[in-house]
Amino acid sequence: MTALLADAEADGALLARRTKVTRLTQYNDSHWGVHIEGAGEPIVFAEHIVIASGHGAQPLAKATQGMPASSIPPQHFARGHYFAYHGRHPFTRLIYPVPVPGGLGTHLTLDLAGHARFGPDVEWIDGVDYRFGPDREQAFATAARRIWPGLDPSRLRPDYCGIRPKLSAAGESTADFSICGKSEHGLKGVVALYGMESPGLTASLAIADRVAHEFGIAN
Ligand SMILES: Cc1cc2nc3c(=O)[nH]c(=O)nc-3n(C[C@H](O)[C@H](O)[C@H](O)COP(=O)(O)OP(=O)(O)OC[C@H]3O[C@@H](n4cnc5c(N)ncnc54)[C@H](O)[C@@H]3O)c2cc1C
Repeated sequence: MTALLADAEADGALLARRTKVTRLTQYNDSHWGVHIEGAGEPIVFAEHIVIASGHGAQPLAKATQGMPASSIPPQHFARGHYFAYHGRHPFTRLIYPVPVPGGLGTHLTLDLAGHARFGPDVEWIDGVDYRFGPDREQAFATAARRIWPGLDPSRLRPDYCGIRPKLSAAGESTADFSICGKSEHGLKGVVALYGMESPGLTASLAIADRVAHEFGIAN
């Protein structure tokens, strides 16, 4: 990926990494101005804008000139924790239970080194907060024992957590992620991706095709 980005820069692309986009303004009939933190004027002008900023999608859409508020979906957050299993285990493939409301259910994943990890659970929270929730060991031991009755719970250790950008709130029926183009918001050259939770990564190539189609540049 780094080599690809270096090639893109060598070919004249301007890449802004670790830079917060603060605003998108209509520059002329065919281009958008991209404003970043700390700069008064737009630093990039682009014909096509994809708002693919995860939890930052709704805030950036709100800071997009002419974006109707009614086209921006509400934002909710569900934290998912993972526990790692420190020790030998008998697994060679991933194991999924029946899904639970808000998530896939605490499942068993294996990393590239073959280490086992259980998660993610579902904890509805009010905003983006990556602190690992306390007192989750017992619930994880119970969920993990459904997959592996012989598991030693003392070998489970808090590992990491992620936050799903949800479009539906706790208790509501689950909303799919949303790809909003001109027919939804009326703005030429902008596609906004909202609620890109799982399986957004798995579906990323199909989502990219759909975005290209929105711009009329599909293969
Ligand atoms: C616990 C958990 C488990 C998951 N498991 C799976 C799975 O098993 N399979 C699967 O397919 N998917 C899974 N997902 C979903 C997957 O992680 C997402 O679909 C994917 O990361 C979405 O990619 P994205 O690029 O749209 O957004 P993100 O990965 O969220 O990236 C958005 C980026 O934009 C940046 N950003 C935000 N605002 C701004 C701004 N104003 N200016 C500049 N940059 C900004 C953010 O810092 C971030 O780097 C899981 C998600 C979670 C939370």
